[in-house]
Amino acid sequence: MKTHVISVLAGDGIGPEVMPVAQAVLDSACEGSDVELRWEERPWGTDYFRSHGRMMPLNAIDKMADTDAIFLGAVGHPEVPDAETLWGMLIPIRREFDQYINLRPIKSLPGVRSPLANHEGIDLVIVRENVEGEYSAVGGRSGVGTEYAAAYQQAIFTKHGVSRAVSFAAELASERNGDLVSATKSNGIVHTMTFWDEVVAEVAGGFPEVRLTPMLIDALSARLVQSPQSFDVIVASNLFGDILSDIAAATVGSIGIAPSANLNPEKRHPSMFEPVHGSAPDIVGRGIANPVGQIWAGAMMLDHLGHPDLAVDVELALRSVLSSGLSTPDLGGQATTVQVGDAIVAALAGK
Ligand code: ATP
Ligand code: MG
Repeated sequence: MKTHVISVLAGDGIGPEVMPVAQAVLDSACEGSDVELRWEERPWGTDYFRSHGRMMPLNAIDKMADTDAIFLGAVGHPEVPDAETLWGMLIPIRREFDQYINLRPIKSLPGVRSPLANHEGIDLVIVRENVEGEYSAVGGRSGVGTEYAAAYQQAIFTKHGVSRAVSFAAELASERNGDLVSATKSNGIVHTMTFWDEVVAEVAGGFPEVRLTPMLIDALSARLVQSPQSFDVIVASNLFGDILSDIAAATVGSIGIAPSANLNPEKRHPSMFEPVHGSAPDIVGRGIANPVGQIWAGAMMLDHLGHPDLAVDVELALRSVLSSGLSTPDLGGQATTVQVGDAIVAALAGK
């Protein structure tokens, strides 16, 4: 029996509504296999913040360090500044555990409405560099309060940081169709983006089976909306990847279904799996949150833990339930969070 210990951070808002449903689905996927998930629940987030003045305890990173993965629901509350949730929880976890890849698979699902007329057959992955680049804390302001007031912020790209993100993306591309698009803007951002292009070309050159296409971020964004089917793997810097992920997720419909992973590919530290959506304060407590994003993130976690077969089982089960027309109101259905979860569990049992 292989036991994986999972740190569970259900968090806030609809996080605690979708989390138990996803845990039940994953447990049932593991049933009858030689894999067992042991859940370690951590009650951290904005409630913790309101009673303790911080999002998680000082030893939180140590407590999670020995676990095999982190399964996150959502963090955020309208009365707690975003800066607290980000810099008090998400960013320290990503950085301490060197989760330098943010992975966002984007796939058309049956029964999901899209703003695009042509949205069948979308199947792409965005690989976002997750710890450096444009989101740096280096910068400041000068001339405060004068007519010369100015603000400046430095983007920092290292050869090490760009190389490892591109190697990951190239490896992934070589296991898929072999097409790798790199998001750039080296015609306008002449220092960091020209450096990005050089490192990308050098690293991708080591993968003869990968066809690299550098594409300017503006043209790439337009093509992502016009023909998302023409992409396979996209590698992008922290900021560009952030924006592209949301554009791409919008092409396949509801925010409630999209998963993401913050990976430490070498598995030296736990990786973190979470739905793309936030705490959705507007629908909290009504039992109608879509659990698919959380469940799909769980499938990515099973894959990362070395069980791609179980991950595929979960994905097929959720596809079959959505095709049957059973869904939560965000997808036009009338089912509750729990009903969707139960149906997926039933589909897994009947596999
Ligand atoms: P946060 O500050 O935690 O990021 P947010 O205000 O940005 O929260 P999101 O959670 O990203 O909100 O949600 C944006 C919209 O999408 C809301 O109207 C919300 O109800 C809806 N939504 C998000 N997740 C789901 C879900 N799982 N099921 C149904 N609707 C959802
Ligand atoms: Mg949000």
